[in-house]
Amino acid sequence: MSNTIQAIRGMNDILPTDSAQWQQLESTLKTIIGSYGYQEIRFPALEKTQLFKRTIGDVTDIVEKEMYSFDDKNGDNLSLRPEGTASCVRAGIEHGLLYNQTPKLWYMGPFYRHERPQKGRYRQFHQLGLEAFGISTPNLDAELIALSARIFNELNLTDKVSLEINSIGSSKSRAQYREVLVTYFNQHKDQLDEDSLRRLGTNPMRILDSKNPALKDIIATAPKMLDHLDDASQQHFDDLLAQLDRICINYQVNPSIVRGLDYYNDTVFEWTTKELGAQGTICAGGRYNSLVEQLGGKATPAIGFALGIERLLLLMQTKTTPAIDAYLIVNGEKAQQEALNIAEQIRSAMPQLRLLNPCSTASVKNQFKKADKSGAQYAFTLSDEGVTNGTVTVKYLRDAAPQVTINLTELASLLTIPFN
Ligand code: ATP
Ligand code: MG
Repeated sequence: MSNTIQAIRGMNDILPTDSAQWQQLESTLKTIIGSYGYQEIRFPALEKTQLFKRTIGDVTDIVEKEMYSFDDKNGDNLSLRPEGTASCVRAGIEHGLLYNQTPKLWYMGPFYRHERPQKGRYRQFHQLGLEAFGISTPNLDAELIALSARIFNELNLTDKVSLEINSIGSSKSRAQYREVLVTYFNQHKDQLDEDSLRRLGTNPMRILDSKNPALKDIIATAPKMLDHLDDASQQHFDDLLAQLDRICINYQVNPSIVRGLDYYNDTVFEWTTKELGAQGTICAGGRYNSLVEQLGGKATPAIGFALGIERLLLLMQTKTTPAIDAYLIVNGEKAQQEALNIAEQIRSAMPQLRLLNPCSTASVKNQFKKADKSGAQYAFTLSDEGVTNGTVTVKYLRDAAPQVTINLTELASLLTIPFN
């Protein structure tokens, strides 16, 4: 074994036993996103490092220690994308998508952060990201949150997650609040850990985001940004909560949510769970009204969220879904000869059906064993007699319904939706 090359730590293979579940989840997510009129955007895995430094912020965990950065052969410093918002905004500006338009965009794919790998925390992980541009009203915030709620609802996870929401106000009111916060933490310096002491001088609001349980009390009694909002931010927050109430979305206002990235303003929110330990945030997002301008575009309000696919899958813990619906069993020499031809005919008649023709020469008993193990719903048995008569025998492998021998032409009507 010592001679074999293994994958990079924290970068996972997704094996055939799991890929069906990934595909199913991706398809469910795409349907939900599509029902809100969002369109897909795809951007490269590599960007100039400067893009992330300028957007995410120099004194954030991501930029300080988590990025995979390197000089390429031209001497350009590049980074594997640690998140999607910066790339999405960069692409939006570059291709004029944001000018006089209000695009709603989504992306899904791998992202990279050099973190300590553990359950729910990987170095290559997958995110679904949504970003909506050009609208500053709280109705858009509410719609985006409603979309995220619909995802958890659709996946039957509502009892495992909760929505936490906060406002971090405008950059001006935040600057004033920052001073109040620094004064408070300076008075309790002895209770801060090393990370927080460092942040006190660089990004004090991040102390509120600390996952160190020893800091829980000191954070709980810290001054709240919510008490320092200006009128416009207060109105935005009140209107947003009223809309969420109107559409019956449960939430908890959590004044400690600040998000780790620099570009947010006003609305910030997280979907959290108690089931994944320190990896408790499944989905996180917020408004970022100044980012487009900061990256050289025309001032454009925006809001987005990112959802971690691996954490979502961990939460779902569903059984692996079988990769096939029907298993073809052959009984006899003629059947053996005709199996390929008949399988082709069945696929033409029922393009949605996932039919496995194992091209097996094993005994019928053995073939049935394999059919059962495959997870398929149906076994189609083709016999020599069936070849002559144009019939196939359908056995229901997962329920007690009696098997039926029917004409091949009737197969599609026997196994209706979702197969034809
Ligand atoms: P955490 O606080 O857990 O480090 P984060 O605040 O860094 O998360 P975001 O940058 O907001 O996370 O990313 C959005 C989502 O992407 C997270 O809520 C999580 O579900 C997922 N995510 C982030 N980093 C990782 C990772 N290293 N491995 C797996 N999923 C991740
Ligand atoms: Mg992180």
